[in-house]
Amino acid sequence: VTFRTRTFIGACLASFAALAVATLLIEQSLRRYLYDDIAASLLTEARLVGALLSGRPALADPDREADALGRLIHARVTFVAADGQVLGDSEVESGQLSSLENHAAREEIVQARQTGAGTAIRQSRTTGVETMYTAVSVKDSPIAYARVALPLTVVDERVSSLRRRALIGLGAGLVAALLLTWAASGLLNRRIRAIAEVAGRYKTGDFSQPARDHARDEIGVVADVLDDTARELGAKLGEMARERAHMAAILTGMVEGVVLVNAAGRLVLTNPAVRAMLRLPGTAEGCHYLEVVRHPDIAAQLAAVLAGGQPAPTEVHLDQDGRRVFAGHVVAVARERGGGAVLVLHDITDLRRADQVRRDFVANVSHELRTPLTAIRGYVEALSDDPTSPEARRFLEIISRHALRMERLVHDLLRLARLDARQEALDRADCAIAALVTAVEHDMQTLLAGRRQQIQTAIAPEAAVVSGDPAKLHDVLRNLVENASNYSPEDTAIDIATRREGEWLTLTVADRGPGIPEADLPRIFERFYRVDRSRTRDPGGTGLGLSIVRHLVELHGGRVTAANREGGGAVFTVRLPLGPVPA
Ligand code: ADP
Repeated sequence: VTFRTRTFIGACLASFAALAVATLLIEQSLRRYLYDDIAASLLTEARLVGALLSGRPALADPDREADALGRLIHARVTFVAADGQVLGDSEVESGQLSSLENHAAREEIVQARQTGAGTAIRQSRTTGVETMYTAVSVKDSPIAYARVALPLTVVDERVSSLRRRALIGLGAGLVAALLLTWAASGLLNRRIRAIAEVAGRYKTGDFSQPARDHARDEIGVVADVLDDTARELGAKLGEMARERAHMAAILTGMVEGVVLVNAAGRLVLTNPAVRAMLRLPGTAEGCHYLEVVRHPDIAAQLAAVLAGGQPAPTEVHLDQDGRRVFAGHVVAVARERGGGAVLVLHDITDLRRADQVRRDFVANVSHELRTPLTAIRGYVEALSDDPTSPEARRFLEIISRHALRMERLVHDLLRLARLDARQEALDRADCAIAALVTAVEHDMQTLLAGRRQQIQTAIAPEAAVVSGDPAKLHDVLRNLVENASNYSPEDTAIDIATRREGEWLTLTVADRGPGIPEADLPRIFERFYRVDRSRTRDPGGTGLGLSIVRHLVELHGGRVTAANREGGGAVFTVRLPLGPVPA
């Protein structure tokens, strides 16, 4: 049943009730009014009749007199003697008067005897009709009481005619009222329907269109409240969505892995980083952490925190071959915020690797310095035991060689330290490659001549000049040529060539030595890394030369790589930018 029908039925019932009550009330008051009116006129008429009769000691034919008066006033007229005997009646034949009952006990007569006038309503025994009787006492006459009676059917007739008219009028009013109600309820219905529709939209989360019912009545107020609520809710939801988006952006962009577990141990939130680290399935959220977190240490930490403990951060090895190291921190979420725990995984692989490199470096330095130191100490002891030994000169030479090696080592180490700390600035100038080669050749004349090696140059005209620090490029070339000379046999050539590759100048230093084992190629630029010395003639290098070369080339924004050339020999390629130095 719709709101409208209900309102309408309610209005109908109310109207019917009002109509019924109104008719009843009107009828009643009308009846009373008519009764009063009839009673008053009957009394007047009775008094009149009484006045006509009084002072007439004898009446020839009282019944005829009654008939005449009755005709005149259109009412029944009865004359009653003091003893109650009916002396005349306008509606009873004179012959039948004697058969009439004694009227002394009639209510109106009793009243008239006591007060002079009396009125009564009852059903007439004579006519059988509801009748109003009014009697008055008459003085100085054989007729003690004159009575006038009127049947009340007149009243009923008038009342029913009035009722008919009232019903017609009220019925018309009712119809009009119902039509109005129908129209009004339709209007109301439309407004309520509009609000209900908007409320339905709000329910689905669409806050775009407000209710917009701005009437000042109760429905308008409801609509306004709904609007305000929706607006506020919409704003809050928007804010929440924005905050969620921010959080999602942060979590997605984070390198650290984050997992939020609720108090029941179920995964509430994971970010892409942690899904990759722990290899969680896409459907992990909602699962218990024990089902999806396969790493026992992390699971143990989560269990401890959820149980109220405060475990120390763990270090875990993830990745297929456990090569990546992660530090896992688990912290509890405050009980007021729902409890649970947050796991954060940091990738500390690089940190650990750097640590390892540093430790290896220190060990290497110590080892490299100890070897010559031990030798020097040994020979110094031998010399002090017997300074005049015939071998003294040889010992001194050995001591000097080791001291020189230590000096070179310390020199290279200091240089590397300076390069590491970026303490060496670039003094850029246009450097002619040919001039660099000539200078290096000049520096190494004795070494090259001693090993009967020649340098062959092939410098392309479009790759003859490069912008760089001449001293540093000289060191690069010198190191490479020195290695080429050291690691290749006597009587061979060292090839230096340049060519242009787009925005790069490529400089290659190639020799005809044994080359470098493939396995060692990626590592020879590392500090102290040397290819197995039993396989090559050890010229007493420090193992730092190529590290310095790489540093210097990278300082220029370039790259250095090593390879083996076809037909034997190693080839080192230095690529230097010709244009502006890339960052
Ligand atoms: P070193 O002082 O020992 O020469 P480097 O850093 O210059 O140290 O070189 C590292 C290692 O790379 C060398 O020990 C050597 O085994 C290898 N290497 C360098 N250049 C050559 C080359 N031209 N031919 C073969 N091996 C080379």
